[in-house]
Amino acid sequence: MLVAENLTKSFTSGQLSTRVLDDLSVEIGAGALTLISGPSGCGKSTLLSILSGLQAPDHGRVLALSESLQAMDAKRVEAFRLHHTGFVFQGFNLFPALTAREQVQLPLQYMRLSAQEITRRADEALAEMGMAHRQHLRPAALSGGEKQRVAIARALAKAPALLFADEPTSALDAANGQIVIDLLHRIARNHGTTVLCVSHDPRLISHADRVLTMEDGRILDDSDRGAR
Ligand code: ATP
Ligand code: MG
Repeated sequence: MLVAENLTKSFTSGQLSTRVLDDLSVEIGAGALTLISGPSGCGKSTLLSILSGLQAPDHGRVLALSESLQAMDAKRVEAFRLHHTGFVFQGFNLFPALTAREQVQLPLQYMRLSAQEITRRADEALAEMGMAHRQHLRPAALSGGEKQRVAIARALAKAPALLFADEPTSALDAANGQIVIDLLHRIARNHGTTVLCVSHDPRLISHADRVLTMEDGRILDDSDRGAR
């Protein structure tokens, strides 16, 4: 569960200040895939980075798992991000020198899990993403869809409560984009994860449990509004 309360964020360059988030409030429930859509520059990536603790808002706060990110010092935010969040990017962000399995294991080593637990989690996440048979390959030997499945396995193996994805399908063809969205949906449903995904792709919208449409730093439309 993720709550944003009255978030504002501006960026200043020279004399010009642009308000990117404008008093934005939203609650995002667990066990569902929530999609954020909207035109380029409307603040989607900024919202995701504030909700995941990567950037701080100018005003307002984020309650992540009932804890205010703004009440934490930088070290605690870092620990929170390591232990409770996963992030999937448009460009996969894999390390060229590491095999698929090593990519998945790396954050688990940072989490200081036991060797046995790391092996168990990596096995499970790679199998769930259908990548067990490719686990010893490096990114250069993987297709785009496979790279993104490794990136999702890396996030999933952390067993995060919150999973963020910023345009995870835009470097993929339609079929692979569909697979990635279905996997994110399955993670939300099967693991009770709060999955928040930015996507421009209108084909993916019908696969989300809820769609938030942003414009000019605000949420213009919420497909879930009637249900609450
Ligand atoms: P896209 O769909 O193109 O990815 P977006 O909705 O994700 O767009 P953001 O990346 O959140 O948009 O950016 C919103 C606005 O804030 C843009 O005008 C962008 O130039 C500006 N912006 C974002 N980050 C910064 C920054 N670190 N410094 C200055 N301006 C920024
Ligand atoms: Mg963006």
